[in-house]
Amino acid sequence: MPEAAAPSACVEVAALAPVPGLLTYRVPPRLAARAVPGARVLVPLGGRKLGGVIVRAAAEAPGKPLRDLIDVLDDEPSLTAELVALCAWIADYYEAPIGEVVRGALPPGSGGGATDVVAITDAGRAALEARALPPRRRDLLAELAARGPRPPRALPARARAELDAVIAAGWAASGEQRTAARVREATERWVELAAGVEAEAAAKALARAPRRRALVQALAAGALPAAELTAAAGAAAALRELVRAGTVVVTHRPSVRAAVPASSLPAAATPPTLSSEQAAAHAAIAGALGGGFASFLLHGITGSGKTEVYLHVIADALAAGRTAIVLVPEISLTPQLAARFAARFGAEVAILHSGLSERDRLAEWQRLRRGRARIAVGARSAVFAPVADLGVIVVDEEHDGSFKQEEGVRYWARDVALVRAQRAGAVCVLGSATPSLESFHGAALGRHRLLTLTERPTPRPLPTVEVIDLRVHLPDAEGMLSAPLAEAIGGALAAGDQVILFLNRRGFATFVLCTACGAASRCPNCSVSLTYHQLQDRLLCHYCGHGERVAEVCPACKTRGKIERKGLGTERVAAAMSARFPTARVARLDRDVASGARAEAILARVARREVDLLVGTQMVTKGHDFPGVTLVGVLCADTGLSLPDFRGAERTFQLLTQVAGRAGRGERAGRVVIQTYRPTEPAVACAARHDYRGFYEVELAARAELRYPPHGRLVAVRIDGPVPAAVAETAERLTALALAAGRDQEVTVLGPVAAPLSRLRGRTRWQLWLRGPDRAALRRVVRALRGLEVPPQIRVGVDVDPVSTL
Ligand code: ADP
Ligand code: ZN
Repeated sequence: MPEAAAPSACVEVAALAPVPGLLTYRVPPRLAARAVPGARVLVPLGGRKLGGVIVRAAAEAPGKPLRDLIDVLDDEPSLTAELVALCAWIADYYEAPIGEVVRGALPPGSGGGATDVVAITDAGRAALEARALPPRRRDLLAELAARGPRPPRALPARARAELDAVIAAGWAASGEQRTAARVREATERWVELAAGVEAEAAAKALARAPRRRALVQALAAGALPAAELTAAAGAAAALRELVRAGTVVVTHRPSVRAAVPASSLPAAATPPTLSSEQAAAHAAIAGALGGGFASFLLHGITGSGKTEVYLHVIADALAAGRTAIVLVPEISLTPQLAARFAARFGAEVAILHSGLSERDRLAEWQRLRRGRARIAVGARSAVFAPVADLGVIVVDEEHDGSFKQEEGVRYWARDVALVRAQRAGAVCVLGSATPSLESFHGAALGRHRLLTLTERPTPRPLPTVEVIDLRVHLPDAEGMLSAPLAEAIGGALAAGDQVILFLNRRGFATFVLCTACGAASRCPNCSVSLTYHQLQDRLLCHYCGHGERVAEVCPACKTRGKIERKGLGTERVAAAMSARFPTARVARLDRDVASGARAEAILARVARREVDLLVGTQMVTKGHDFPGVTLVGVLCADTGLSLPDFRGAERTFQLLTQVAGRAGRGERAGRVVIQTYRPTEPAVACAARHDYRGFYEVELAARAELRYPPHGRLVAVRIDGPVPAAVAETAERLTALALAAGRDQEVTVLGPVAAPLSRLRGRTRWQLWLRGPDRAALRRVVRALRGLEVPPQIRVGVDVDPVSTL
């Protein structure tokens, strides 16, 4: 036997494709220098070439011939070693393929590698020509035949529902298509004197061409961006002439400009003097900076100046030479917040905004990676911001459900932020007026230090809240406004103030039914009723996008003219308000009218007071600061309480408290009117009293009985597929496995049951919930489930610390 060979250079690679685990490759000597953790690579797998990222160095496994890396794509690794390690932690904790985690952490558009696609097969073409097929199946095959291999998500929803059946029949096959990285880094043109050109002499020669001479003189000290040089009138033409004459040359360099130019930002605001409560919170956090990991829960009522505390802490971190990440629920809904960071710190802020083009996002990412910007502000994926020397991570509105990713890797950015801070020896600040039960309980147990802001630093008290019992004050004929709320709206509008009305349902009518037979219009792909949208004059499914016209004749009983549109949605409320208050300028904010930039535009109109009455879904409850709003009306507080969701009460309390906090932020006192059928419900009553603690105590006790979080941990196992019986059977088999594995570890298996949303996009859905005292016990049970061979059309998803119960 030979001596143990010198450790040959091998690496473990996370493939950017649905391949479980890590793949090991040999590093050919020519690539050795660049094959470091975090670098993107191209690897062979079977007959394909996949994109991937190196996770760590490895020793060659004896007796197992390894293939070579094909290429290393980065000169400088795309991900830092810290981020690669964080990805590995996420993959392990959330039971997700590491390649998918890494893909989410990579700069936008740089994935490259391979895309999943479906393509028609020869058998499919034959079927399409020879047979009479059901129309949807024919449409799907025709689409694939006409347009070539396509990613499943790019197919129309109706076609997608047929996909599994068509693949099962052998008429289409799924595979992968290799794609180059879509986005190239933005570059800008730089100008410098050509080699051998001497500035003084060249300028002298241009004595009679003042514009050209000025350019040459400007370049004497070194290269400059072309954009800067050509700002003056006539300079662009002069520059072209100099290029033609060979006096100067143009090169392309990576752009280091901020996607949001600093000049468009308001001038740096002078920080206000902190109130004593704010100063105490700031001192506590600042004292922990640089001293290793510490976590804080900053519980401050709406408008108590939490953001100001974050700004101070971040200034301290920067002064100490460190960096910061600020996670916010949704940037397009909180443009004011991002603007405040930019106003205070200028070009140090990089905003990772899904509304930016991929190229701009990549530019912002690169500014962080290169240390040109040291503060990353963004939604949940900004937890992967490529900053070095992390000093602090702020999670603003930490209770917000948007921090949980609900597709792909189902991570919870708030918890990942805590873990990243812990691993980096940084400080993590969770801030909210309505902390999640998990976080407040964590503070009670001493896991986070609790800091409290009980008052607003401005002389603006919290608004008064009136609860209107709809059983006593009957709403109007449309089921919308009680007399007290109608009066309050009229009064506020007459006084020239602004009003926000909140209803958590979009659309015009939330269900449509035949009053002769009672049949409601339901989605053919999902187990939900269709919502009527007046603008499009169509019924739409809010889950799969299916749309159809409202029938004249009831499809069930054939009666004509008895189809009625029932149930309130924001579209109907906005229309009714325009009719009832004809002089008021009414705007609507929900996902139908406002995604991304359009939401910002609507909010900007409200801020400029071009809107008198804003009707909207939970989008209106976010941290908006509109001084003109004196009245907030909640049309029905209890819509969220009847959902089959153990967090329903918590979410209702949060929404009510947050929306109430929008009233009375200016000179004039605020007022909140909450309509409800359940005025004694703690979520409603406590929100009306601004009583967070009261709600927390009641809710914590309620959850103790069933050992729901924060008392125990949950894992949801979601099973779905096109054939109901097969899904049910898989669910039963998984349950049997879970019961066997969980017996001696205090893990309770709940279910299996059909999911509340029992059919979605043509797939039947079942769930089974695992409840255990801690993550370790649950992990063993989850790993045991991996042993089950699942039929190909059935998907089994593991959701650790689930939020959605649907
Ligand atoms: P929160 O983040 O808790 O909702 P903000 O930080 O947005 O609160 O503060 C609410 C308002 O109070 C903002 O307009 C902010 O500029 C102002 N503010 C915050 N701190 C102070 C302070 N110490 N002095 C004066 N105004 C302040
Ligand atoms: Zn649907």
